[in-house]
Amino acid sequence: MRAVDIIIKKREKGELTGDEIKFFVDSFTRGETPDYQVAAWAMAVLLNGMTARETTDLTLAMAHSGQILDLSSVVDIAVDKHSSGGVGDKTTFVVLPVVAACGLPVGKMSGRGLGFSGGTLDKIESIPGYRVDLSTAEFKQQLKKIGIVLTGQSLDLDPADGKLYALRDVTGTVQSIPLIASSIMSKKIAGGAQAVLLDIKVGLGAFMENLEDARALSTLMIDIGNLAGRKVMTVLSDMNQPLGEAVGNALEVIEALNTLHGGGPVDFREHCLHVSAQMLMLGQRALDYEIGRRMAEVAIASGAAFEKFHILVAAQGGDVSYVDDLEKFPQAKFTEIVKADRSGYLAQVNARIIGEAAVALGAGRARKGETVDHAVGFLVHGKVGDYVQQNQPLFTIYANSEVKLAEARLSVQAAFQWSDQPITALPLFYN
Ligand code: URA
Repeated sequence: MRAVDIIIKKREKGELTGDEIKFFVDSFTRGETPDYQVAAWAMAVLLNGMTARETTDLTLAMAHSGQILDLSSVVDIAVDKHSSGGVGDKTTFVVLPVVAACGLPVGKMSGRGLGFSGGTLDKIESIPGYRVDLSTAEFKQQLKKIGIVLTGQSLDLDPADGKLYALRDVTGTVQSIPLIASSIMSKKIAGGAQAVLLDIKVGLGAFMENLEDARALSTLMIDIGNLAGRKVMTVLSDMNQPLGEAVGNALEVIEALNTLHGGGPVDFREHCLHVSAQMLMLGQRALDYEIGRRMAEVAIASGAAFEKFHILVAAQGGDVSYVDDLEKFPQAKFTEIVKADRSGYLAQVNARIIGEAAVALGAGRARKGETVDHAVGFLVHGKVGDYVQQNQPLFTIYANSEVKLAEARLSVQAAFQWSDQPITALPLFYN
């Protein structure tokens, strides 16, 4: 078999066999198929799609490109969560400690930024010293000891996704239902999850821009999970506007810490409570949604969730003084509060434009392997449906260059659309 023939077959809209998919995945994992061929193949898949059967074969080939973690000796039920990626999505930093504080151990392997969507690892690395490269043995040990782990994808688990994910980020091949479904599900299968809560983002700042695609992704991932013997639950959540106020690495960690202290933006807190309640049900710690939600509220109000986050950072070598003193997080050289140039109702706060502007400020990557700037980003002060008075703060820019600050001001201003008539607020979740 030759990689080029498999690329051509997909380019010509052919259906790849299980053997062809396995050959392609194995050969690029071993480094025998070069990045340029993998990128060409990913583009062919993005343009021409894959059947459910091909996607399942791809998922399983990727999951088996490395080891499969067995957590049965560590936890009674291995529950994981994963978001399909959005703007301002710092949910993991709240949900993980909340559910862990409620007695549900949770070990999560997260990723870096992808396109305009921020990455959990890039964000948590705003805390100096925090290790995101735990070995599988360390992962298991920590999960057993303190019931919470947040690390990067271990090199021996799903190496195929590690490679493909980084390539897709910089080749315009992120937005493909089969590539997203196989990326997420292969990681969850390899990571040993028995039950998975998938938070599928939908809207302008998500990879799934409409509900139809989000539902298709949801069905596909539930089906793949069932075939692989995993229980999968999905929630569809709005990503037309950023979640919470903060967009940018350190800014998002700070917002998550404020939320763990009982504050934080209302929409973000509500999102976290909903996701936590679902996880507590999936992990058989809560009999129903209301009980799960109450447990999550108590974990925040009592300080137990914040304490868990503290324990997590300490366990992974992070400087816990940052968690206690938010002033220590990296500060941008230039800050500007941009005020509304008119009064009116906010009709759109375009998450995609804001996410792309954050990447342009340096919060994300334009090329594979680039470092990110932890200090830069935005606080977005308005939500769709809000009435904003002229001169009221609309957003705050945190930048490390005056030129970039000026560019960000222009691009983010274009993210706001106005109406003179009242506008209905966006829902947090969809059915
Ligand atoms: N999250 C992932 O892990 N993979 C994708 O492809 C998209 C979001």
